Amino acid sequence: MDKELLAMLVCPLCKGKLKYDREAQELLCHYDGLAYPVRDGIPVMLPEEARQLEIDEKLPPSPGRNGEG
Ligand SMILES: [Zn+2]
Repeated sequence: MDKELLAMLVCPLCKGKLKYDREAQELLCHYDGLAYPVRDGIPVMLPEEARQLEIDEKLPPSPGRNGEG
């Protein structure tokens, strides 16, 4: 997807920046916990089309864990 297009996109709910998941072809809003689909390179910015992120998807990626709890 176009980088310039991506830079213009914001979440329709919170107006926050979105994270583009290239593999999943989704735009993620961690604030709302939603993933907007990208269909044929066209982002679908509709909350009713978005899927809910799983709990562990909402968490920011950790830099690495030491040890095993
Ligand atoms: Zn949002």
